[in-house]
Amino acid sequence: MPWFRREKKSVDAATPPEERTVRTEGMWIKCEACRAIIWKKDLEANWEVCPKCQHHFRLGSIRRLELLLDDAQWTEHDAALASADPLEFVDTKAYSKRLSDAIEKLGINDAIITAEGRMNSRPVLLCSMEFGFIGGSMGAVVGEKVTRAAEMSRDRKMPLVIVSCSGGARMMEGTISLMQLAKVSAALARLDDAKVPFISVLTDPTTGGVTASYAMLGDLNIAEPGALIGFAGPRVIAQTIRQKLPEGFQRAEFLLSHGFLDAVVPRKDLKAYISGALDFFLT
Ligand SMILES: [Zn+2]
Repeated sequence: MPWFRREKKSVDAATPPEERTVRTEGMWIKCEACRAIIWKKDLEANWEVCPKCQHHFRLGSIRRLELLLDDAQWTEHDAALASADPLEFVDTKAYSKRLSDAIEKLGINDAIITAEGRMNSRPVLLCSMEFGFIGGSMGAVVGEKVTRAAEMSRDRKMPLVIVSCSGGARMMEGTISLMQLAKVSAALARLDDAKVPFISVLTDPTTGGVTASYAMLGDLNIAEPGALIGFAGPRVIAQTIRQKLPEGFQRAEFLLSHGFLDAVVPRKDLKAYISGALDFFLT
């Protein structure tokens, strides 16, 4: 005689076949840093920061605005600006197709959003870059939007905050995207003359022409933990100087310890930190 007798039918027999498997696909994500399996909803609720090891995942441009602006409310400026594909560029895919795909997928016309809102009650102009839009690359539209934001900031004496997340200049617009570096830098110099504060926030990754222009021109340049920040990639540098690169090279903490950044601030403290800095600048 068996010690235990199953009174009910087995689970398999009791459940109809279509209900036996629970769909879990896409609900879990593995942390790149600590390998922990995290429920996506937990990660979302924690502003895309790993609850186990505090690894900072990339945050989308709209979520970034929600994180930093009061009541997740803002007015968008220059939303209609879109690239005219001046070179009619084609690589493995036509640039015009890349643009239309990104616009359809993300619902924005280029890799940056200019938003006017309040940060702890103070009016600010906040530009938030979107990596999902062709690698957050800077072409004529991103350059023009940042320039206009700097000009509006100056005219209205409203502090400017730019959150960068970019692979650099947009090669599909060739030299036109390189010209944006000079244009944006000139606009930021005029903003500086007018003594309106500009805070640059560098997130993972901030590289190439964006690092070489506005991302490093803030009155304060602050970064999120672990963010990759640089101009050329590490492999190109290692091959050029023929030396092994040090541990943590081009990461936010390394740059801070070498004087390239003013602070490394965790995402959850970012709003309070920027507000505190603006209090300091403006009083
Ligand atoms: Zn983790």
